[in-house]
Amino acid sequence: MNRRDALAVLARCLAGGALVLSGVAIAGPKVLAVRAWPGKAYTRVTIESDAELKFFLSTLANPDRVVIDLSDVAADAAFQQALSTLRNDTGVLTRARIGQFRPETARLVFELNARAETAAFVLPPVGQYKHRLVIDLTPQNADDPIATFLAKIIEREAQLEKADEELRSRTPVAAVAPAPPAAAAKPNEAVKPSAAPPAPPKVASNKKPAAVIKPFVVVLDPGHGGEDPGAIGPAGTYEKDVVLAIAHKTRLLIEQDKRFVVFMTREEDVFIPLADRVKKARGVNADVFVSIHADAFTRPDAAGSSVYALSERGATSTAARWIADKENQSDLIGGVRLAGRDPALAKMILEMSQSITNADSLKLGRGMIAEIEPVNRLHKKNVEQAGFAVLRSPDVPSILIETAFISNPEEEKKLASQSHQLKLARAIRGGVRRYLLAQPQRS
Ligand SMILES: [Zn+2]
Repeated sequence: MNRRDALAVLARCLAGGALVLSGVAIAGPKVLAVRAWPGKAYTRVTIESDAELKFFLSTLANPDRVVIDLSDVAADAAFQQALSTLRNDTGVLTRARIGQFRPETARLVFELNARAETAAFVLPPVGQYKHRLVIDLTPQNADDPIATFLAKIIEREAQLEKADEELRSRTPVAAVAPAPPAAAAKPNEAVKPSAAPPAPPKVASNKKPAAVIKPFVVVLDPGHGGEDPGAIGPAGTYEKDVVLAIAHKTRLLIEQDKRFVVFMTREEDVFIPLADRVKKARGVNADVFVSIHADAFTRPDAAGSSVYALSERGATSTAARWIADKENQSDLIGGVRLAGRDPALAKMILEMSQSITNADSLKLGRGMIAEIEPVNRLHKKNVEQAGFAVLRSPDVPSILIETAFISNPEEEKKLASQSHQLKLARAIRGGVRRYLLAQPQRS
């Protein structure tokens, strides 16, 4: 039984009626489903119910556990059985069990394989979901993906510098210092044909000194994830799954060239809030941000790819919001620290930065469309502009690609196929390279 099956069983078992304890019916909230989204970054458990769950959370050490007391919920056999089937291969949660702590209180215990930071909150009904209690378990020993990535950049800089030095040392500079001909060797010295060539002369005289060569940082942002499937195709294909697959392939392709490093806002099936995606991109000093999605429409014949950049209005409201946000004011925008500056000046700097960024986003988008066109028909021939939250970095050129319409049966089939995913990945790599390689050499 795979994880999804186990969760389905769990969900069915939990869909119970009113509690009957000691012959007294308790009209408590009905639990409708329990889902777990185990990941390396964090594990999210969602308990869905028809009314808001009242809970009390506590943590215990040695061994690490999280205890959640649920008011007016029964720890019946179905609940126990369901929890026993819960598997967790990748996350911090190893086992979940439930017991009747008090007649009207069920106690849910999560056993963990490491100490975890725990957050729990309730969400009101939205879309297809009813009330949800969300428990996030973030392992404390988990590597910080941003720190790991920044270390990777430093390592890559060193590699690029070494490669650059080697290249420079191989560059012939005969006019400066001609290599001594073999005949110049003294007669008593054997000239070995296999001997290493004479050390090349230093080339510093006619070349600029080597500068730190920074790899381009590409952030790929596969949309949705975890509890949020995104659009669902008529054959049941999830947008979150295909965009993740496309992003993984794109990373592999882009990183074949050592001048590029790729950071993914999610590498697995977890939910990442939109603001966190933007924050991550800024945290790794992204040169470009590419969000990958699949479109959906009520009409099944809607088809083709589209590329979006931030709209004027989105940009204006973003500037206003950044100014309003104290946290952002102390942030570096386009290399200029805004903290403590005159608000009008800060606004001007920010708007200038944003308008340069917008022009770059459009350029990135146009190149992307040119690369996608041979691979998939275009829904829109020009870069569209909309107020997508993930595109709101004032200083990172950002685009959102709707790879195709997953609501179109034909395009759904293509999106799910490995070969088409690879074609799209090649196109995305092409668009990213087209834009970045046209940038002036950074150092
Ligand atoms: Zn989407």
